[in-house]
Amino acid sequence: MTPLEALLRQRIAAEGAISVAEFMAAALTHPEHGVYMQGDPLGRSGDFVTAPEISQVFGELVAAWCAAVWHSLGAPAQLPLIELGPGRGTLLADLWRTLNAVAKPLASALRLHLVDSSPPLRARQRATLGGLAPPLAVTWHDDAEAGLAALPDGPFLLLANEFFDALPVRQFVRRDGTWRERLVDVAPGGEGLAFVPGPVADPCLDGPLAAAARDGDVVELSPEAERLAGLIAARLAAPGSRPGGAALIVDYGPARSGVGETLQAVSGHRIVDPVMAPGEADLSHHVDFERLRTAAERAGARCFGPIAQGLFLGRLGAGLRADALAARAPSPEAAEAIRGAVRRLVHPGRMGVLFKAMAIAAPGLPPLPGFEPDAG
Ligand code: SAH
Repeated sequence: MTPLEALLRQRIAAEGAISVAEFMAAALTHPEHGVYMQGDPLGRSGDFVTAPEISQVFGELVAAWCAAVWHSLGAPAQLPLIELGPGRGTLLADLWRTLNAVAKPLASALRLHLVDSSPPLRARQRATLGGLAPPLAVTWHDDAEAGLAALPDGPFLLLANEFFDALPVRQFVRRDGTWRERLVDVAPGGEGLAFVPGPVADPCLDGPLAAAARDGDVVELSPEAERLAGLIAARLAAPGSRPGGAALIVDYGPARSGVGETLQAVSGHRIVDPVMAPGEADLSHHVDFERLRTAAERAGARCFGPIAQGLFLGRLGAGLRADALAARAPSPEAAEAIRGAVRRLVHPGRMGVLFKAMAIAAPGLPPLPGFEPDAG
């Protein structure tokens, strides 16, 4: 039994079964035993690998995206950039290197804010960023709301790669014409934890989804993710004389809401039972971009996408950049490794289609790079 399972059993004994969202929040961010509190789950040796860890081209193209948005904001002399869940800080390091090479005025304008609740990953970010030249000044925040609240008035940029998929998700199961929230309880035999049906609960689905639901269907909702999309949007759309900037969200999940269970636990690159070893396996779920978009639009912002990551990165020049790097590679093998890494990001069978890019923007901004023909 993991130490977190022992704590959860005590909590369940005292308060009753907990929601999947409460379970997920504890498994990921419990101050002592959460996955992210204990170490670094990223990278080839960890539980999963993210786009910035696969290829430097990801951060370089995001830098180009930021530069284009900065220009459309009128190239302000100061611009806060807030990144949610920076992991090892790799995206930011690649972005910083790129801006200092090709867009120095933006590098000098940026004021960096990082949101991360994980002390070991913050230490990792500090180490990555501490090695950069020129040095960059960074302020850390524990949670996204505090980070947003700390930004000065005026426009800002926000980046979130594989952050929303880690926000807690609730699950509802359809049985005999009614929805019940799925809960986590002590397993019937007393050993381990198990999913159990909870009380009847209305997930408040919109028409088409509710009408299509059948017995046995599961729907997932992340009120925390929707709330955060709304907060970001409200901040970007805040009335003022200047457009308030833009947020780029990249994650995996469908463009349209649907039924289906996507909560997944990964440990050492293998899929495991989500309730088996809380605090040891990374948990994530597919981001419901349609609901994020609706939440952001309700808060007054304009959205672009979601579009497939492969399309987005391709439009920003992934192919050209891979060719340029490969041409300078020291060996044919190194050149192929560079191309192979970029292919992994853009190929439809790899991360190119399952992953999506979506932007939330101040209403006054022109169409954003990478999204142009899909202007919302
Ligand atoms: N963006 C990075 C890392 C993704 S992993 C990359 O692409 O490589 C998710 C990151 O979000 C980790 O750094 C984790 O510590 C952080 N995180 C997860 N849930 C969080 C929460 N609720 N509040 C703040 N940070 C969180």
